[in-house]
Amino acid sequence: MKRRALLLAALPLSAQAAGYAGPLFDAHLHYNDDAQAPHPPADVLARMARAGVRGALVNSRPNDGTLRLVAEPGAQWVPFIRLYRNRADYTGWFADDSIRRMVLELLAKGSPAGPFRGLGEFHLYDSANADGPTAIALMKLARERGLTVLAHVDDVAVDKLLGHAPGTSLIWAHTGISGEPVQRVRELFAKHAGLRGELSYRPGLTFDGSIAPEWRALFTAHANRFLIGSDTWVTPRWQHYEGLFAEYRSWLGQLPNEVAQRIAWGNAAAMFNLPGPI
Ligand SMILES: [Zn+2]
Repeated sequence: MKRRALLLAALPLSAQAAGYAGPLFDAHLHYNDDAQAPHPPADVLARMARAGVRGALVNSRPNDGTLRLVAEPGAQWVPFIRLYRNRADYTGWFADDSIRRMVLELLAKGSPAGPFRGLGEFHLYDSANADGPTAIALMKLARERGLTVLAHVDDVAVDKLLGHAPGTSLIWAHTGISGEPVQRVRELFAKHAGLRGELSYRPGLTFDGSIAPEWRALFTAHANRFLIGSDTWVTPRWQHYEGLFAEYRSWLGQLPNEVAQRIAWGNAAAMFNLPGPI
């Protein structure tokens, strides 16, 4: 592994820039109501195809966007239930039992791409709200039903949420929301086997286009714990969809190939039992 890393580091920049060429899975795709007119499903699929993204974890505010997108053939869809019917739900969902009832209804109905596989993305702007009654109930529900949660929270809230339902599969959106140190990520990985990190907006990953040494070491040590995503949280982000994945390809190409393959596709495929890329 070490020798390979040295060889890669010795490659001229032009070779590194070519990047990782294999299939990608977008583990953080939003298809919100305001994106649907400018970017109908055919446009989304075309952007994904140009970026080499063959599958995606899809969620939307409200959930009808997910139901619409995953009805389209052309990618391997992993539908998630978003906890928000509207923007007001962002700040109150963790203590609102009507959100839990909405989740139960959607789980019973399923999606055109099969059962919902998870809950989120949800946000907690104050980690104390990880102890809210609906947050606790939904973590326990996720564990019971074998669902994954996608959580935009800080390190304290990760610990609290997984404390309510130990062993639950949790994707930590952005691998932190305030640039939590790599050492803290390591500690949480060691404590919670079901924890994985998604890497959109994560600061400090690269410097001048080269992968940062502490991140290279973390990815190599925990290759099975990371996923990449677009986070199309506002409509203009769709304009940058291909560029975002070109950036991922650039630094994935600087990692040992088996590590890059896992982060790019393999970890999502294992979590959600996906067949090989179509
Ligand atoms: Zn997001």
